[in-house]
Amino acid sequence: MGHGTWVEVGNRAFHRRYEPVDVSVGVILCEQSALVIDTRNNPAEARELMDDVLKDFGVPIAAAVNTHAHYDHCFGNQVFADAGVPIYGHALMKRHFENYEGPHLARVKNSPASEPDKNWEDVRLTPPGFEIASCTELELDQRTICLVPLAHGHTDSDLAVHVPDANVWFLGDVIEQSGPPMFGPDSDIAGWPVVLHELAQTIRPDATLIPGHGDAVDRDFLVCQASHLELLAREICQGLEQGLAPGELHLSQDLRRLWPAEHLASAIDAYFAKNGGV
Ligand SMILES: [Zn+2]
Repeated sequence: MGHGTWVEVGNRAFHRRYEPVDVSVGVILCEQSALVIDTRNNPAEARELMDDVLKDFGVPIAAAVNTHAHYDHCFGNQVFADAGVPIYGHALMKRHFENYEGPHLARVKNSPASEPDKNWEDVRLTPPGFEIASCTELELDQRTICLVPLAHGHTDSDLAVHVPDANVWFLGDVIEQSGPPMFGPDSDIAGWPVVLHELAQTIRPDATLIPGHGDAVDRDFLVCQASHLELLAREICQGLEQGLAPGELHLSQDLRRLWPAEHLASAIDAYFAKNGGV
């Protein structure tokens, strides 16, 4: 599988894109140690990541952070936990695991052929040992890293990692650059653009933003993605108010240019499920 290389996106803040699924991993280099952002999709991938960090930076891993509860960002947690690395994540990750990732993992373990690309045989769901319920400044080996739990958007467990002295934000999948943002039954379609607009108030215009998938972007990119999501929420809301069923909704050409039809269908389902539709 092809991998990218570490790119220094701000003062001693590194980003790397890993295959499969082109997932972003971050490393914040401290005085004598490193913090790793996201742990990849299974134990083997996590072990490879740990080896890369040790080899490429030559310092031990002092902590790991999860940007949200989806498998591609945190199913490697057990390897970090087994090595004694403290893991930080949104306070609702454990509940999210119980409601979504746990049942999904059990289904695939029962029938690995249903999703052969996942390689989840060895995965033990491992929620973060440190649950973040409000903005938290992590003082790690001479460096301050801010953990900012977000309101319900892409998932109910999204957490932004801000490195103030590097002017860098790691945002997980609340924004995506390599493709349009993805919806699931755990997304809050109406809440998501609100989360992004709030972030835009906090993020400096010259900051570097790392999406969960893809290359570094700037604040304008986030604002643009927020407006797309806002339009989507508005059109679905109007359909719901007109008493339409999910299948009867015809979204605008603008939206159909931005997302494939099946993604839009997922967004409609998630919105109706949450907002009292069918
Ligand atoms: Zn992802």
